[in-house]
Amino acid sequence: MKREATFYETLPDSNRVKCQLCPHYCLIKDGQFGSCRVRQNEGARLYTINYGEIASLALDPIEKKPLKFYRPGTHILSVGTFGCNLTCDFCQNHTISQAHVPTRFMSAKDLAQLACQGEDNIGIAFTYNEPTIWFEYIYDCASLIKEMDRDRSVVLITNGYINEGPLLKLLPLVDAMNIDLKAFNNDYYKRLCGGSLEPVKKTIELAAKACHIEITTLLVSGENDRLEEVEKIASFIGAIDPDIPLHLTRYFPNYKLKNPPTDTAFIVKARDLAGKYLNHVLMGNI
Ligand code: SF4
Repeated sequence: MKREATFYETLPDSNRVKCQLCPHYCLIKDGQFGSCRVRQNEGARLYTINYGEIASLALDPIEKKPLKFYRPGTHILSVGTFGCNLTCDFCQNHTISQAHVPTRFMSAKDLAQLACQGEDNIGIAFTYNEPTIWFEYIYDCASLIKEMDRDRSVVLITNGYINEGPLLKLLPLVDAMNIDLKAFNNDYYKRLCGGSLEPVKKTIELAAKACHIEITTLLVSGENDRLEEVEKIASFIGAIDPDIPLHLTRYFPNYKLKNPPTDTAFIVKARDLAGKYLNHVLMGNI
């Protein structure tokens, strides 16, 4: 379903709009889409085309998100749509993040009601693809959930590539986040993901003040599997709060990237090094 976007401006004397949801600040001509392929300029207005469009829905263990220290042992209704504002060459969910897949519409009220059902369900996790580009739907669902049952959790599994204004609007409704910190150098973000590092650092700093957060770094062989890189990541997180958990996960070839799987011995070394800065370092995909 189409719905007018919340964060954009129409440029004077033109039909172009400037989207202000994420750090790409796409300038979009009439009829065209932004980089995330879910926001379209129609007659000098910006619309999100995936409002309520569900591509995936499942009840998952919270640890699968991964969130290891947030309500452990529980399950959470997990939902996603299509599209992403990054283009990671190694994306494990590229079939929904980089393509317009078939969906089924569900109103915000219907999804909120479903999220508030079930004794073994703690709420809702927006996951599978990048949730922040689903901003309007997430905001509406999360607001309704908090009205219906304050004990239900709202969780985001995100790349953290969102501007400060939208993030601050969403954070009061969010209980926990897992944020990807894909590397600690801008070249990696630019070359492999089509993004940049600084906005993600800002998101982590802001989110840490507002809710429970955990960080995930995929260690990609030949790209960011260097101890200096891991040390910079751990030191940055530790300076915010050494109790923030860090998940170091093993890469396997996927989508466009054919590098071999990451050496598990390196991941063990990386865990030990990160443990000098952080109290909880976990290894994943091993
Ligand atoms: S949310 Fe989409 S349209 Fe908006 S700036 Fe980001 S990539 Fe561009």
